[in-house]
Amino acid sequence: MSFSSLAREEMIRLPLERECCLLSELGALTQTCGSLSFLGGGRFSVTYETGSSPLARRIFRMLKTGLSLSPSLHVVEHARLGGQKMCILTVDGEDAPHLLNRLGMMRGNTEGTMVLRRMVPHLSMTRSCCRRSYLRGAFLGGGSMVNPEKGWHMEWVCDQTMAQTLQKVLERAAIPSGLEERRGQSVVYLKGTQAISDALALMGAGNAVMEVENVRIRRQVRARVNRAANCDEHNSERMLNASEKQVEAIKLISIERGLYTLPPALQEMARLRLEHTDLSLEELGQALKRPVGKSGAAGRMRRIEAVAEEIRREIAERQKEEG
Ligand SMILES: [Zn+2]
Repeated sequence: MSFSSLAREEMIRLPLERECCLLSELGALTQTCGSLSFLGGGRFSVTYETGSSPLARRIFRMLKTGLSLSPSLHVVEHARLGGQKMCILTVDGEDAPHLLNRLGMMRGNTEGTMVLRRMVPHLSMTRSCCRRSYLRGAFLGGGSMVNPEKGWHMEWVCDQTMAQTLQKVLERAAIPSGLEERRGQSVVYLKGTQAISDALALMGAGNAVMEVENVRIRRQVRARVNRAANCDEHNSERMLNASEKQVEAIKLISIERGLYTLPPALQEMARLRLEHTDLSLEELGQALKRPVGKSGAAGRMRRIEAVAEEIRREIAERQKEEG
């Protein structure tokens, strides 16, 4: 099972929360997998559609147990989607305006009739408990994450308004997020172990947090073991000396000419070396945006060192002239 589904399952199993949080989670789910139908005669129905039956059951419990409504649940098979099952929850009759009212979409007017005010839920998010629940609802409805063995990336696909809310919620929790447009939709994303494990913790997925940490530790250990296997102590000392010389060369170029004067490929290599003094050339080559092998990395480093050598000669010449 993918890491994303494990995290999702854990969140789906969480007990229902008190009403303020329950409404926040349901509001986010309404925005991501809900829709509003006008039935004529001023009547509505609210429909939730999801391919996940555990999620459908959670929404069902929220509506029935949490809000005392009577939703109907049925499963349809989409021939178009290769027989994929979709769970459809419907809230209609008297229950529909009641639900919309709780989600802040409907208000009573002066004549005492209920009128639709907004097309999206409008909920107070001043409490941190509610912000966490909103984030979780949005993740269950439209979020996903890449298996952490492959890289660290978590995202929420939504509309522009919701993206703004999500970014504010994340910002309040000091989790840095990014925003991009993809095929007419907004995508709020997180990068890096820390941001993702913080967000999982915030959404209540404690086991998923542990798993992220485990992967992080496994990777560090693996990197250390690989380094130890690749070189005996003598070699690693030599590697460190080589790395120190490279850093010295790069700093000289940076001071005398600026790294921006290097061709882009060399610039990237130089900056990487400054950031990771402990990596071997082979590892540096792998860390490039377009990875190269050991000899490719060594070639780039030689060209960098040649530039530094040229600078050293210039400095020596100048000193001779002045001397
Ligand atoms: Zn709350």
